[in-house]
Amino acid sequence: MIQVMKFGGASVKNPDAIRNVARILSHFKEDAILLVVSAMDKTTNHLEMLAHLARDQKEAEAWAQFDKIKSFHLGHVNDLFEGDLQALVREKILNYFQQIERIVRGILLLKEFPPSTYDRIVSHGELLSTTLVAAYLEKENHDCQWIDARDYIKTDASYQRGEVIWSLTEENIQQKVVPVMRAGKFIVTQGFIGSTTEGKTTTLGREGSDYTGSIFAYCLGAENLTVWKDVIGILNADPRLRDETQKHEQLSYEEAVEMTFYGASVIHPKTIKPLFSKEIPLKVKCFADIKEPGTVIGAQGDDQVITSYIIKKQQAYLHIKPKDFSFMEERLMQQIFDHVYKSGVKVNLVQNSAISLMLCVDDRENTVTELEALLLDTFRVETERKLKLFTVMNYQAADLTEAHGARMVQQYDKNLSYVK
Ligand code: ASP
Ligand code: MG
Repeated sequence: MIQVMKFGGASVKNPDAIRNVARILSHFKEDAILLVVSAMDKTTNHLEMLAHLARDQKEAEAWAQFDKIKSFHLGHVNDLFEGDLQALVREKILNYFQQIERIVRGILLLKEFPPSTYDRIVSHGELLSTTLVAAYLEKENHDCQWIDARDYIKTDASYQRGEVIWSLTEENIQQKVVPVMRAGKFIVTQGFIGSTTEGKTTTLGREGSDYTGSIFAYCLGAENLTVWKDVIGILNADPRLRDETQKHEQLSYEEAVEMTFYGASVIHPKTIKPLFSKEIPLKVKCFADIKEPGTVIGAQGDDQVITSYIIKKQQAYLHIKPKDFSFMEERLMQQIFDHVYKSGVKVNLVQNSAISLMLCVDDRENTVTELEALLLDTFRVETERKLKLFTVMNYQAADLTEAHGARMVQQYDKNLSYVK
């Protein structure tokens, strides 16, 4: 049986967490498992910061940040390994830091930081973490092989958000990974990273390791994908915002996609689609307590009806009206959506009336300002910012009261969404 397991940054955040990964795997000795591992803890953010300091020509601060990331990883080498093995792992880790150093020097020198360089530098978070995890598993007598995800996951050249070239990726994984897995090994690889057909490193978008897990599960035809997290499963609300929460035992693929679309940070939004198409179940389990059954995302939802509460922050509400009092007819709608597409604005809700179109969108970077500028010729636009999009799945009558006074309200099937 082939399984794919994804270990996120929190599940490998320090040496003890890495020891725990080995402990978890000792319960799965019979299976062939491919492990997809994220960068340790907040390493991706730290590498991002390093690159930004270099870009801004803050040389001294950049090198201080570099040293911080380096000693963080080297400290773990000392903690996890001894003797010859320690020297060997140390050398591998130092090699990566030489590469990072070269990239930083390049940014400082050229005063340039294109997205391709971003991908080259941040990809090291996963290269470092998987090197430590694979070596530690070997040490614990797990038969284990480290592979470079960039040799298998092929993407186009959209740096920072590489689009997977499925045919190539599937062929690579089928031909080169499946035979090794048949031999009953643990395979350790990186989440989040891929490469172009020319071999240039790309990334799949922040928090993209879940998606990597799903790509491998799909291409391997795995029995399931397990995502190990620091929570007992998927809850019906953020426990910091609601006193009482309930855990979903099961969620249907559709429910899971809706939840991630409306802002639940349970799983990367792109994860579900490949799994859905091959009906591969996704288990969300707790790395601190492996006996907890977690949540299973699959064909079936919960037996009992559970109301879920999801909030998406940083929303903008746009009220768009033709300047000349024309009806909001299809031609104008098409024009508006052409502009939306061009500006890169991500739309969450849409509503129309005789002479208006209302949008609730993510207020990211300058996209909304760009959209406003494009609309300006033909339309009058009123924008409100700093709003939240509330979504209640399986809503009850009382939830409708909460929606009172909202800018936009949408009831769809058993879901209620509103903007406040
Ligand atoms: N390390 C990457 C990030 O933090 C990918 C991931 O964690 O899923 O965005
Ligand atoms: Mg991460």
